[in-house]
Amino acid sequence: MSFADIPVDVGVVYEGERVRKEQMFVELGGPDEDHKFELLLVKPMEEVEDGKVEVVGPDLKDLPEGEHVPFGVKVEVAGEQLERDLEGVFERRIHDFFNYIQGVMHLNQRDTIWLRVAKSSVQKGLDSFRYIGLVLQRMFKAEFPIIEKAQVTFYTDPKAVEEQLKFAREVYEARDARVRGMRDEDVDEFYGCTLCQSFAPTNVCIITPQRYAACGAISWLDARASARINPSGPNFPIPKGECKDPDLGWYTGVDEAAKKYSMGEIEHINLYSLLDHPPCICGCFEAVAFYIPEVDGIGIVHRDFKGVAVNGLPFSTLADQTAGGRQVPGFNGISIEYMRSSRFFKPEGGWSRVVWLPKAVKERVKDAIPPELYDKIATEEDATNLEELKEFLKRVNHPVVERWPKEEEEEEVEEAAPPEAAPPTFAPTVQVPMQPVTMPAAPAGPSFKISFKNVRVRAEKLVFRKLEEEKKKK
Ligand code: SF4
Ligand SMILES: [Zn+2]
Repeated sequence: MSFADIPVDVGVVYEGERVRKEQMFVELGGPDEDHKFELLLVKPMEEVEDGKVEVVGPDLKDLPEGEHVPFGVKVEVAGEQLERDLEGVFERRIHDFFNYIQGVMHLNQRDTIWLRVAKSSVQKGLDSFRYIGLVLQRMFKAEFPIIEKAQVTFYTDPKAVEEQLKFAREVYEARDARVRGMRDEDVDEFYGCTLCQSFAPTNVCIITPQRYAACGAISWLDARASARINPSGPNFPIPKGECKDPDLGWYTGVDEAAKKYSMGEIEHINLYSLLDHPPCICGCFEAVAFYIPEVDGIGIVHRDFKGVAVNGLPFSTLADQTAGGRQVPGFNGISIEYMRSSRFFKPEGGWSRVVWLPKAVKERVKDAIPPELYDKIATEEDATNLEELKEFLKRVNHPVVERWPKEEEEEEVEEAAPPEAAPPTFAPTVQVPMQPVTMPAAPAGPSFKISFKNVRVRAEKLVFRKLEEEKKKK
């Protein structure tokens, strides 16, 4: 697609385009900015002026080159047949439409957006938000003919961004609250979403009333509204089929849909589990939940967390381990809203298994955490590594401590049997990101003993090779 009055190309081909730091003119929002948002509102006809684009604060060309700035974008649409129920699904498309613009990269959603505009595109003339606003308007109207009018406002003035962000969060909260209280057993259909297949070709998200989409932007109600207005679009109903296990969230209909839409990659999903066939996920999740074998508990880290998680890995590494439409037992991308669900990692014990999460998230979902557990879950202020975490959990008597082998038993096991004979206490295989380890050979040193304590390791292959043989080969 190309628009004569837009200085750069616009089209699906630019969707996966990355703008690296060295190539960028400016970064809008992103992990280094506390204030950023995108919001779409359905308005009465008389309140929307079709084609209007406003910029509150400096325009694109006047932003500091090479820097990051607070940023917000508000799209207001109107149409005789529009309902407010559609706001969530329309809003999710802001992501695609920005990405269609050559040299513009857009990641994430809601109040975690991260955009970059490439220098090369600014040099070609894309120096004003006005052009971007026009593209958004035209794309919305082309994709959804029931949108009759659209206007766009960009915010770069720090005060205005902060104020509007507050308002946006109220809107998100009201949207999310609509599905709270609905239960998976009370509906006949779940919904699928393949919107992110342009990034993760085998990914299909399954959205249920009690399992909000991992991107945090599409509820079951949103997906239903989207499937109704656009039956051939990215959201579609999934008949539940037979419920094989209500606690795991195992439905035959979900398995069939997973197989079909993942092109055979995924055969079985337990909707609520972290460890046993968890749902697959692209890369848009709001947070990553990760199993911590050392304490037999679950850690969670959200996208905006700046430090490293308690297992020593930053969000980005954990996200790489989780993303790409794969099913990775022990890792799962989730939305913040899912933490409020009574199905939240139910098979693993839900909140009673969570041992660590950043303070900011803990405060945000405070009302969902059982009060007797609240002080037992560590944050970055209580523990920054696994040793500190173990100490903390013992001190507060977190329920996971019950699951730990007693120290005396552990000694006995060590004396009585070699580690490989110890019975597995934990059935599913959990993948832990690891680097290959090379141990230097001790030339003529004393023999040594390796003890594994509180770990469960599964290796597909263990290869020992004498170094002399290696040398001879070379
Ligand atoms: S993360 Fe999943 S639910 Fe959200 S837009 Fe992408 S495919 Fe859809
Ligand atoms: Zn995605």
